[in-house]
Formats: sequence, structure tokens, C-alpha cells
Amino acid sequence: MLEVKDLHVTVEGSEILKGLNLTIGAGEVHAIMGPNGAGKSTLSAVIAGKDGYEVTAGTITFEGRDVLEMEIEERARAGLLLGFQYPVEIPGVKNIYLLKAALNAKREAEGLGEIPAPEFMKLIKEKIAFMKMDASFLQRAVNEGFSGGEKKRNEILQMLVLQPRLAMLDEIDSGLDIDAMKVVAQGVNSLRAEDRGILLVTHYQRLLDYIVPDRVHVLVDGRIVKSGDAELARELEDRGYDWLLEGSEA
Ligand code: ADP
Ligand code: MG
Ligand code: MG
Repeated sequence: MLEVKDLHVTVEGSEILKGLNLTIGAGEVHAIMGPNGAGKSTLSAVIAGKDGYEVTAGTITFEGRDVLEMEIEERARAGLLLGFQYPVEIPGVKNIYLLKAALNAKREAEGLGEIPAPEFMKLIKEKIAFMKMDASFLQRAVNEGFSGGEKKRNEILQMLVLQPRLAMLDEIDSGLDIDAMKVVAQGVNSLRAEDRGILLVTHYQRLLDYIVPDRVHVLVDGRIVKSGDAELARELEDRGYDWLLEGSEA
């Protein structure tokens, strides 16, 4: 589904990703772990097509398409979605309208018409309830007075509504108490599907107690230095990253 080959990325003149390789198959959940500053967020941002990153070498393909040739909106329409990155940016507008605009942009790309209002309301109510969110939340402007936990829930809500092909979630566990984390994890688990890939970026192992990944990759200094199954995350919990830092020079 997604194939990243020998990716080199420079941010403001310094090389952050230094030859990164990653393959995600349909139906798989991959976790990217690693110390702060390793380049984890950079990787998901580059795949999504955010500004400010210069790809100096390597390729990214998604279902055979050259991702680096696609504009950010095109990537979102193709189903490459990074959490809290709205494909349709309408500043100061209520959350519900942004969700609807994003969904309609996706439907348009799929040759479907606008979603009828009653159908949209039914969908949104169902997802809001699933994420244990208050309906009043929909009437607030995006990010306006959202707590950390609300932002994360909203990020998953967006994924549940848009049903991306590749869902990329960066540090969705940060700042969450255990109950909020369980709700968020339940949302992510419900996204698992045969035709969907999930890329989870996380610094901490605890999220992976609730979302069991198929593959875990350790990103250190711009490269994936180790890959394994869910057991690797537990090993990192016990041993930290230092043993891999030393080995990364070899
Ligand atoms: P991680 O998510 O693994 O903590 P990041 O991908 O956020 O790491 O950052 C990797 C490195 O790139 C860091 O050293 C960070 O300071 C630098 N970096 C990331 N984004 C920018 C930016 N927009 N401008 C300057 N430096 C950046
Ligand atoms: Mg990063
Ligand atoms: Mg990060």
C-alpha cells in the first residue's frame, strides 16, 4: 500500500530523515517509536505533504502512485490522512462544518455527490457517541478552547468520519489520562480494516497496550534502526532507546 524508499528529508537546511525505508501493507497497523527529535513527526508530515520539508532523495509511493508528485489536497483525497490536518482549511469555522466539508471533498473525489444533511447528522451522532464526546463540541470552532484530550478525540472522530485509506496519527496519547486513552484507542481499533493502513507515531509504549500493532519500527536519527512485532515495544519499555542509539552508528 505505502512504500517509502531511501527517503532523505531536509528541514531548514539540516537533514532530518537520512535514508528511511518503510513498507505498510493494507490491513496493517504500524507503530513508529523513537526518541524525541528522531524525525517521527517529520516522516508523517512528509507523507501527508505538509509545507517546509524538502525531499532531497528517495521515493514515496501509495498504491503505485508517486506521492511526492501529488499536492497536499490530492493526497488527502487519495486517502492519505494525517490527524488534525484538514484537507479543506476554513479558519474560524465550526468543527461540524469542517468535518462536512472534508467529507464532501472526499466524496467528490470518489464521484459521489454531497452527503444529504440527515445522513450526515446520523453519521456524526453515531461517531460522537462512540468517541464519548459531547454534541456541543461540534458547534465550537476547531481548536478553540479544546483541551488536549478533546483535540485527540476530535482527531479520531475526523478519521472515523473520513475513513482514510492510510490513517496517520502522531502522538495521539500525549497528555491523555487513562480513560481518555482507552476511548482514543478504541476509536483507532475500530478503524482497523482489510483495506486500510494505520501509522501510529508514539514516543511511549503504553498506547500499544491498547492498540496492538502488527509491526513496530524504531526511528533513531533519521533512520529505522530496528523493526519487530509488538514485543519490540515492550522491550523498549524495559530497556529504553539507548541500546539502539549506540548500535545505530554501526
Ligand atoms: P520527533 O517527532 O521524532 O520528536 P521531529 O520530526 O519533530 O522529531 O523533529 C526532528 C528534528 O527536526 C528535530 O531536531 C527538530 O528540531 C527538527 N525540526 C522538525 N521540524 C522542524 C521545523 N519546522 N523547523 C526546524 N526544525 C525542525
Ligand atoms: Mg519526528
Ligand atoms: Mg514528534
